[in-house]
Amino acid sequence: MKRRLLWQIYPVFMVMTLIGLLAFSWNVSVLLREFYKVQKTAQLERMARVATHYFEDIVGTEQFDKMQSVCTELGRTTQLRYTLIDLEGKVLADSDENPRQMENHLMRPEVQAVLDGRIGSDIRPSKTVKQELLYVGLPLTRDGKTAAVLRIAVPLIELRNTTQTINREIIRYGVIIAIVLAALSLALSWKISRPLEILRLGALRFAQGDLNHRLHVPASREIGALAESMNQMAAQMDERIRTIVAQRNQQQAMLGSMVEGVLAVNTAGSVLSANRAAAQMLQIAQEQCVGRTIEEVIRNTELQQFVRRILDNTEPAEYRITLHENIMPERHIQAHGTPLLGDSGSKIGALVVLNDITSVRRLEEVRRDFVANVSHELKTPVTSIKGFIETLLDGAMEDPGDRRRFLEIIARQANRLDSIIDDLLTLSRIEQQSRQEQMTLESAQILPILQAAAELCQGAAAEKNIRIEVDCPKNLQSCVNASLLEQAVVNLVDNAVKYSDTNAAVRVEALFAEGELLIHVRDRGCGIAKEHLPRLFERFYRVDKARSRKLGGTGLGLSIVKHIVQSHKGRISVESRPGEGSVFTLHLPRTQS
Ligand code: ADP
Repeated sequence: MKRRLLWQIYPVFMVMTLIGLLAFSWNVSVLLREFYKVQKTAQLERMARVATHYFEDIVGTEQFDKMQSVCTELGRTTQLRYTLIDLEGKVLADSDENPRQMENHLMRPEVQAVLDGRIGSDIRPSKTVKQELLYVGLPLTRDGKTAAVLRIAVPLIELRNTTQTINREIIRYGVIIAIVLAALSLALSWKISRPLEILRLGALRFAQGDLNHRLHVPASREIGALAESMNQMAAQMDERIRTIVAQRNQQQAMLGSMVEGVLAVNTAGSVLSANRAAAQMLQIAQEQCVGRTIEEVIRNTELQQFVRRILDNTEPAEYRITLHENIMPERHIQAHGTPLLGDSGSKIGALVVLNDITSVRRLEEVRRDFVANVSHELKTPVTSIKGFIETLLDGAMEDPGDRRRFLEIIARQANRLDSIIDDLLTLSRIEQQSRQEQMTLESAQILPILQAAAELCQGAAAEKNIRIEVDCPKNLQSCVNASLLEQAVVNLVDNAVKYSDTNAAVRVEALFAEGELLIHVRDRGCGIAKEHLPRLFERFYRVDKARSRKLGGTGLGLSIVKHIVQSHKGRISVESRPGEGSVFTLHLPRTQS
């Protein structure tokens, strides 16, 4: 664990401060001691000079008792120790001790200094008095020559006491100064390390993605410049990240809104990206695609092999496959594969675009079926017409009875052809109009439309003595295409009349319910078995082909109705029970202009 800068700077400051303080205190203490010593030595020297006068007459003589009494007297009056030593180091007299018991003093430094012609001084512990003493030696002269050495000694107990007092004071103030300096160096360390700590915290926020944060720029030039550079860096990074995110979002939005599935795979066969459409086609969650292998994402072996082929080759390729063959609804996919090239032009994977062509395929199938159905429907009357004409030409013309019968059949078949073609034209017209959104819807009264439709069917209804009842509020009004709606109702009423027994009633009702305009056409006719209901509105679908044909039906009537309703953005429903009758209902959105 790395230590904080504060705790790295502060101890160094502290140690430096303490060393400085100790060195200073030590110096002061030593200097004071030295000063005291010099002062004391000078004082002692002066006193020694005064004392030399007392020995002037007796030095160099044999008057040892006199010398001893002068030493004793001086010692008593001045509270100092006086020693008289001859030039061989023998102690002649001493104010404190018996000179005869004292050893030779020749080698004492102060004595040696005097013998060398200097004034000597020394500080050392005395062997005799067991304490530290300051010694000063002076020559005593007789006839201009050194005859003996006078030594004065003073105990330095005073010096020790004074030094101890001074040291105590130094320690006391030293501790106070050390505390103050400790606080000051802590403050200084904090002042140095704090801006760096703030920068560190700011950099941490940048690292965590908060690039809007700006660092406070401290007054210090170096750290201020660093903070400014870091702020600039964050602003640039923020800008770049915003650009990258915007580009990525744009790309994702584009890919996401594409109807085509887009799948990017790297050379190792892992999915780099897959859009929503691709995930839907492959029936896998989009977020589960990225990073997985194509074998995990694509469950269709053919498509897997196709992607592998693109990865192995450098040429684009196309392929048609059927996905989810076992699960309905199956989907037909047209896959376009292209190698994915990196900046340097080297291959970095493959891009596969999946086109769902299911509806195109279904449309193709419907068209194929329709052409087959139309051909078949047209073929029957044409074959019949051809057959009867040939029979007539082969001689039947001669028999007036046959001729009339055959011509009537030919006329009927021609009418049938005519109605099929009419119905087909109507269908294609409605389809075209609704495809081009050319359908004009205008606000219209519904009652007149229903009445007109009933009127048109009146002839056929009268033949079977069928009543057509119209039940519609007078003021019922909606946005419709009146002629197409009339045609739809005519088709339904026509069917109701066709498939009802004589003397029955057909009822047409219109009302608004649940936001829709509902038009019911009810009959009490033969009804329709349940299994036919889902296919009833397909082109050419008939429950009973023979009966329909006999009644002149084309099998397109309900298909036309369905298209008319769809072009109104509505729908058609049917309820029917065999033997009980049917109710066809048109559901049209209720719109008012
Ligand atoms: P068609 O020209 O044969 O009547 P439609 O498309 O109008 O053709 O009707 C399709 C089939 O639906 C008819 O052949 C008929 O079998 C059945 N159908 C239609 N309307 C009725 C009805 N009101 N009652 C019973 N069957 C009906």
